[in-house]
Parts: sequence; structure tokens; C-alpha cells
Amino acid sequence: MRIGVRVEGVVQGVGFRPYVHALAERLGLAGKVGNDTAGVFIELEGGEPEIDEFLAALPQQAPPLAVIEQVRTEQLSPTGQTGFRIVSSERSGRRDTLISADSATCEDCLRELADPADRRFGYPFINCTNCGPRFTIVRDVPYDRPFTTMSGFPMCDFCAAEYHDPADRRYHAQPICCPDCGPQLRMVGGPGGPALQAAAKLLCDGGVLAVKGIGGYHLAVHASDHEAAATLRDRKHREDKPFAVMVADLDEARTLCELDDTAAALLTSRRRPVVLAPRRAGAPVAPAVAPGNRQLGLMLPYTPLHHMLLRETAGAIVLTSGNVSDEPIAYRDDDATDRLDGIADAFLTHDRPIHTRTDDSVTRAFRGTEQPVRRSRGYAPEPVRLVQPVPRPVLGCGAELKNTFCLARGSHAFVSHHVGDLENYETLRSYTEGIAHFQRLFDITPEVVGHDLHPEYLSTKHALELDGVELIGVQHHHAHIASCLADNGVAGPVLGVAFDGLGYGSDATIWGGEFMLADLAGFERLAHLTPTPMPGGTAAIRQPWRMAAAYLDAAYSGAPPHTLGVLDRNAADWQTVVELGRRGINAPLTSSAGRLFDAVAAILGVRDTINYEGQAAIELEQWADPDVTESYPATISGSSPLQLSGADLVRCVVEDLLAGVDPPVIVGRFHTGVAEAIVAVCRRLRDSTGVGTVALSGGVFQNLLLLGRTVDGLEGAGFGVLTHHRVPCNDGGVSLGQVAVVGALDRTD
Ligand code: ZN
Ligand code: ZN
Ligand code: FE
Repeated sequence: MRIGVRVEGVVQGVGFRPYVHALAERLGLAGKVGNDTAGVFIELEGGEPEIDEFLAALPQQAPPLAVIEQVRTEQLSPTGQTGFRIVSSERSGRRDTLISADSATCEDCLRELADPADRRFGYPFINCTNCGPRFTIVRDVPYDRPFTTMSGFPMCDFCAAEYHDPADRRYHAQPICCPDCGPQLRMVGGPGGPALQAAAKLLCDGGVLAVKGIGGYHLAVHASDHEAAATLRDRKHREDKPFAVMVADLDEARTLCELDDTAAALLTSRRRPVVLAPRRAGAPVAPAVAPGNRQLGLMLPYTPLHHMLLRETAGAIVLTSGNVSDEPIAYRDDDATDRLDGIADAFLTHDRPIHTRTDDSVTRAFRGTEQPVRRSRGYAPEPVRLVQPVPRPVLGCGAELKNTFCLARGSHAFVSHHVGDLENYETLRSYTEGIAHFQRLFDITPEVVGHDLHPEYLSTKHALELDGVELIGVQHHHAHIASCLADNGVAGPVLGVAFDGLGYGSDATIWGGEFMLADLAGFERLAHLTPTPMPGGTAAIRQPWRMAAAYLDAAYSGAPPHTLGVLDRNAADWQTVVELGRRGINAPLTSSAGRLFDAVAAILGVRDTINYEGQAAIELEQWADPDVTESYPATISGSSPLQLSGADLVRCVVEDLLAGVDPPVIVGRFHTGVAEAIVAVCRRLRDSTGVGTVALSGGVFQNLLLLGRTVDGLEGAGFGVLTHHRVPCNDGGVSLGQVAVVGALDRTD
């Protein structure tokens, strides 16, 4: 018999054809295999048992970077062909192939890297079909060397022979290279001598080194060198935000952090994200690396250069994004030299261009699953598969902070790499260029566009400027809940709990502590935190003590206990700020949960002002005594929508504080209180709606103490609970949610 087989997914540039070739030969099957615009096509001729065996083995023994999404077969008439061959690519029709994410150096390449007899011994750009740069070097499709940033490096005869040999591990490995024909490492500035040794010496002597990586430049210092880390902070204008640390291997990682099996698996995965994990007492890391933080962000080397550098420094290094404060990470050589000039003492760089700026991904283990914080390098541009395909091509423009965009066609939602905060020209440009790049790579011309309702978001403005598309405004928190649904592959209806910083509400007020009955197509706001003024508007975001003033005013009807430290510390402006709130002058009302956490953080003296988004809430969580199980009560009042009183929780915090209860105990009780209030509201809503599944989303649920307590409480009350596993619960997931909503509306039209 003869059959045709179509394989779709990430099956090009990952060694799939030679794999099929070898499998067919082993089973004595005749036929052919080739690439086309939709994936890989195979024709097989031989006995039925052999063909069955082939189909059974095909997904099981596939190469490491392959992701098989679909296999379809059809009967063909036998031709009497003998032998099996790889045929050249057929390129016509609509492009439907996927591009692999960048992947950490594989074991085979590491072995060659360390083998003095190997041609690529000590060559920092070694890679093969199973590893190396992908997404970040792709300029255009098809994924072929001339369309990558390797186009300027003609292969030498050795490399060309490997590239064309189906039996070789580097068959059609587009970034293939060697010391004779590939990129070269060099050191700019710093001590003399061979680049790598000079770089290591600089680090060991306390210097700041800029290192060109896969998706951009990093800034590095020795992780045990407090002075160097403090200098880096100072030069980068990054006061408190923790730095990530790269360690040589899993054993060294375990000396710094507690790692369960899930965390260890994430750390060693070929995606190589930064994994946040509880730091061990006495971990040999300088205090300036992650000041006042119980956690550390760890990652393992993911390029040959990182492996070699860490061997030379003989110890962990800080590896943080190469930028000044909130600017996007530098990735072009000239720009990096300009912008990082006053920060880095020297540059360890090379001549392989980076096409797409891609930050490190950040993730965490939570109860045996992954909870992404930032989905970028190593993940993008792998699509999130939609259970319900979109009828027309869609663009989700994303939010303002932690922006990603998402392009979708059929059942593929291509969530972009982390673009960043759309607040300067540079980021906005990489946003618009990124959308154009994805449109080309995946051959998607959006016909429907989902955007946030906030009129001032640059992503909204981008949407409104597009011609010839249908625009659909998607409420921010509905997008959060829809992203959680799409993440879990379910359609709803659910009770959606969206707790975050701020989002534009359908009534033009600012939301952020929302309970909704939602499916993908729509939502009904059934409950929310009682709105509280944000005195000074955005100033209240940067100065959590202003939220403390507003909440205390509400909790004590204008007469809070005057002995509170937060009052004392901010006495000069206190009354003015309270008045702003009372009169509603430049004091928009918000139901934001993030602002409630801010208020509590300021009242307890965690901090009155912040240096990065979410800092007060993040530090508040760190203060908690995790063994505390008591809680504070909060009143639920009103009807459609119900209101949940944050001021009640604030009053309990204050009373315990004045009674001399330890702040860590108070923080524990506050977290349990919020979780129990969520459960109580959900019970009420289950009674009125009959819906027993809750979806948790929004950046506040990055707080694992709150998430854990809430999940426990909901499950204990018999709810099914959905949390995020593929895209972040923060605004990085909003673009996927917009796509899911727009797709659902488009289906019902
Ligand atoms: Zn490899
Ligand atoms: Zn070569
Ligand atoms: Fe949000």
C-alpha cells in the first residue's frame, strides 16, 4: 500500500526530514519526504504492518525541538517505487509553518565544545539542528539561511558538507557555523588577551561587563561581589528590582535556592527561563543582587558563550538586561555601545546580528505546574493553540505595561515576545515593527483587531490608526479572564476573578478588583471591591502612602488613629491628600485590588513610595509569616453588583498593629482575609448564577501566597479553579485574551 502523510507543527529546521528518512529506511519503507508551506509531507509505500509501525513511532521518537500538532493520512495508489528519498522543498501557497523558539545548547554540542579533538572545540557559537538561535535570528520566511542573520557568513566546505548530509546532526541547521566560517567573539575595552579570559578577569576584578546574548545585551557582574552589584545598580538607575543570577548547573542552583522537581525541570528545560525560587539562608549571593527579597531569579547557561564564561569565572554571575532603568534592552551593536557606555566597563560581543530583541523569560513553579511571569525568549513565537479557532485573522493589541501583542489565524495564537512598557518611542517602534514582522512570518493579515478600552494606551491608539479592519474594544479585566480561559482551553461560562493594578472599566471608571460572570464573548460585572479614591491620580500609584490615606479615611470615617507611623512619616502632605480624596479632585475612584495591597503595605511600614511597578505588594508578600492561618473579615454589601469592603480589612490591620501584633502575622492574616473574601463572594455568585468554576487572573495573582490561599479556599468550597500556565496572569497575557474574545464574537456574528 501507499499512503500520504501530512505533519503540521514545528517540523522545519528541527531535523524532521532526516528523522523520517531514517525511520522509513529502518522499517524498509519506500517513498519520500519534503517540506512545503504547511509543514512536512511524506509518502510511504510498503506493507501495512510496517506503515502502522511507522505512524506509531513518528510522534514518539521525534527530534527534541519538534512539536507535532497534527498528523493526517490519506490513501494513495502504489507506484512500485523503491528506496526512500528526501525531496527538495516545495514553496507555494499560504505559509502555514511554525518557527521554533531559541533553544539552549544541547548535550551533543556541549560535548563537542569541550572536546579538544573537535573542530568546534571552544567555539562559542556551536549549534546544531537540536539547539541554538532560531526566532531571534529570523529576518523573513521561509526559515532558510539567507533569510536569517547568518546570511553574511558563507559556509565553509566542512560546514556545507554537514549541512547537506541527511545523516548529520547539522543537516539543514540554518545557523550552522564553525571557527573558520562563523561569527567571532571579541572584547571591546577591558583587559587585553583572549576575549573570553579578559572578560572573566574583568568580572573577577569587580568590573561590569556587557555581554551580547541571544536576544539582546546583558549586563554582568560577579554574583558574590557586593560592591560590583551595587555599582551596577547605581549606573543602571535600578534601585531595588532584583537581578537574575546565572549559575553553572543545577547543583550550584540548589546551593542558592530551594528547588522542587517542577522548578528544577523549568530551570533545565531547553527554554531556559529565569526561575524565581525561595532563596536558601546563607546563599552566597551579594546583598545588592536582590535586596530584601526572599526569592532569587536563577537561570542556567543557554548559549555556548555562557557556558564558557561561567567556567572561567568559576562562580555565579548576575545577568540583567542591558538597559538603563525602564528602557528596552539593547540588541543592536551600535546602539548597545552608545547606551551602555557609561554602565559597562567593557563589552564581550560578536558579529552575529540579533534580528528581534527578546528578553529572558521569567517563570515559577506552583504546586507542580508552571506559572509564567514573563513569556519571551525560549517560548515565543510558539503559538498557544486555541480550542476554538478564530474565523478570521485577528490581532490583539495588548495592554500598556508588560505589553505583548498576539496574532491569530485558525487555531494558532502567536503571542509575541515581551515588548515591554509602551511609554517611549523606542518601545513603541519595536511594538509596531514586531507586529509587522509577525504578520510576515506567519502570513497573517488581521481583519479584526481587539484593543483595550483605555483611550490613552498607545496600543489602543495603534489600533485606532489601522485602516480597513474591524475594531473591537475589549474590557481589560474581561481580557484577563478570557486569557485564563484560552490558557486552559475552555470556553466558560465561569466566575472570573480579575485582581490587578488598574484597568479601564466599561463605565469609564478605573477597575481592578472584579468579579464577573464571563465567557469568551461577554461578561457581566457581578461584584467588585468598594471604590476608593486615588488621591493625586498616578501619583497614588508611585506613592502607596496616598492609598493608605484614602483607605484610612474610609475605614475610620475621617478620623483614623493618630498614632500610626504612616501618618507620622507623611504628616506634611497628609491632610492635603485626604482632602483631594474627599472632594474627588484629581482623585479618580478605583476598585483596584493592587491599590488595596499598596495601602496595607504603607500602613505596615513596608514602604511609602515605590521604585518599580508592584513593588509595595511584592514586598508585602515577602513580609508574611506563611504559617499564619487566621484571617480578617470583610463585609459584602449591596446588590448587582455586590461590593466587597477593602476598608474592613484595613481596619483589622490597623487594630492588630496598634495592639502590638507582629507585622508578619498581620500580613499573613491580611492575605488569608483577602482569599476568604474572594471565596465568600464566589459562593454568593455561585448561588445566584449556578456557575461553579472560577478563573483567577490579573497581576495581583502573581502573589503566590494569595493565589495558594485562594485556590485552597475555592477548592475547599467545591469550586473548580482555573489559573494560568501558558501566558502570564499579568498584562502580558491580555493580548491573548483580546484575541479569544474577538474570535468568540466573530463566531457568533
Ligand atoms: Zn546542539
Ligand atoms: Zn564552517
Ligand atoms: Fe491588568
